[in-house]
Amino acid sequence: MKLAKEIGRISRLDRYKRPEKVKGAAKLDSNENFALDSEFIAKIAAEAARGADLREYPLDELGHLYGQLAKYIGISEKYIGVGSGSDQIIELLLATLAGRGSRAIVFVPTFSYFIDRCELNGIRVDEVPLGKDFELDARKFVRRAKKADLVYICSPNNPTGNQLDKKTVQYIIDSLRGKLILVDEAYADFAGYSLAREATRRDNVVVLRTLSKAFGLAGARVGYMVTNRKLAGAFKSTIQSPYPISTLSLTIATRVLERSAQVKKTIEEVKAERKRVFDRLAQVDGIKTYRSDANFLFIETGKRYRAIAKELEKEGIIVRLLGSAAGHSGCMRVAIGTREMNDRFLSCVERAVVA
Ligand code: PMP
Repeated sequence: MKLAKEIGRISRLDRYKRPEKVKGAAKLDSNENFALDSEFIAKIAAEAARGADLREYPLDELGHLYGQLAKYIGISEKYIGVGSGSDQIIELLLATLAGRGSRAIVFVPTFSYFIDRCELNGIRVDEVPLGKDFELDARKFVRRAKKADLVYICSPNNPTGNQLDKKTVQYIIDSLRGKLILVDEAYADFAGYSLAREATRRDNVVVLRTLSKAFGLAGARVGYMVTNRKLAGAFKSTIQSPYPISTLSLTIATRVLERSAQVKKTIEEVKAERKRVFDRLAQVDGIKTYRSDANFLFIETGKRYRAIAKELEKEGIIVRLLGSAAGHSGCMRVAIGTREMNDRFLSCVERAVVA
């Protein structure tokens, strides 16, 4: 039976493993932004809850969010679409603009949710490995991409942290006209450049952004995309469901965006901490840390993996343990948290290595 076969196929697919919540632990495994003051967000959330009438569907609130997003990125709202996290926008674009039987190309390692989602939608994924220092052979990538319908570029890349040089990405985009190109900029607020403006001028490029990372709103589930006017219009009127984001999340997101000066200050603090943690780890024998343009670091710990993982567990610090990845051994992805969280993480690594 066709239905049973399809359910069987879906049950065998790789799936996103949701991290476990450990009470009291320092959570450095999901690239959230704990450097943003929790009181700042909690106060805005409480005010939003007091003012909301949840008996009504959200109407004006969506418009207010569009207005604030446009202001933050300096691009008219005609080019913007919003969703319940960028995860949901990815899902909608895959289902409507790619679909069963089409082909995607990605470099690896990259954001595994994207690959899983392609497979769920019956989209075949061609994986081009990144080089030793996570650089991309762009010519090879373009050559292989000629056979694809859909191209995914994570910029900065999760889990490696690096953002490919702007010229390289521009070359890929220039070489692949007519294919849908998704540039996932979930971490671009911490990086050197964004292609959002470029996407408004192209008929095939979508830049994906989110408030889950720099804006400290992972729990509110608000993502957005920037693309050409026609696709943004079709997305708003037809592709997106009428009420994808709750009144509470819309109001909270709008108010946090109104105070983006405070968020920008935190972004600078995170970037300074990223440098400090990187420099400290560079002093530790036997491990290698990779340059990052995001709010996390990719660390290759080799033989020290077990000892470091054990020490972190003992200290109640959760990081993303990746094991072997892309020819590197004992890999971990660790978010940059508050100075205090980062210090606790660094002490664990330093202790495990001398032990
Ligand atoms: N893209 C990348 C590269 C991510 O790392 C994440 C979050 N893990 C997302 C998209 C999804 O973010 P959101 O919370 O907006 O769904």
